[in-house]
Amino acid sequence: MSDWSDVCPLCQKDDQVQKVTSIVAAGQASGSVSAGYYEGRSSSQTDLSKMLSFPSLSEPESKGMGCLFLVALVFAAFMVFVVANTDSREWASITPTNIIPAVLLTLVPVLCIVGMIVRARGNSARRERFKKSLASHERMRAPWQRLYYCYRNGVVFLPDEQPRSSADARNMMAYLGAHA
Ligand SMILES: [Zn+2]
Repeated sequence: MSDWSDVCPLCQKDDQVQKVTSIVAAGQASGSVSAGYYEGRSSSQTDLSKMLSFPSLSEPESKGMGCLFLVALVFAAFMVFVVANTDSREWASITPTNIIPAVLLTLVPVLCIVGMIVRARGNSARRERFKKSLASHERMRAPWQRLYYCYRNGVVFLPDEQPRSSADARNMMAYLGAHA
C-alpha cells in the first residue's frame, strides 16, 4: 500500500516509533523494565504498556433475588399453614373487615414476585446493553493491532490512515473509535 507509513505524523520520523502490540507484549513479558533510554519520559515501560493495551470490558453483575425469593417462600408457606388450619366455622366468620390482614399478607409474596420479575428484566436489559457495547468495543481491536506509538510525541497513530492523523496515547480508545 503506497499510503502506508510508520513515520510519526507529528515529528515526521520513525526512529522512536514502535508498534503498540509490541510495546504491550514487551511490557507484559518484562514486568518492570523501565524505558530509561528515552530521555524526558518518566513513566516505566509497564505504565506505557498498560496505557496502550487493549482494555477488556467487564461483564455487569446480575442483581441477586435470593432474599426476595426467601420472603415470598416464607409468606406463602405461612399462608398455606393458616389456610390448612382454618376450619369451616372460621371460614364462615370471615367478613370484609377481618379479611384485610389476610389480604395484606397475600400481597407480600405477590410484591416479592413482581420485584423478582422487575429485577430479572433489569438484568437481561443490562446483559443486552453489555453485548452491544462489547460488539462495538471489539470492532476497535483490528485498528488497535495496526496502531503505532511515537515515544517522542507520546502519540498513537494508524500507519494506513489518510489524511495522516494521531492522538495522545491517553485518548487511544477515542481515536480507535473514530477509525473503527
Ligand atoms: Zn513523533
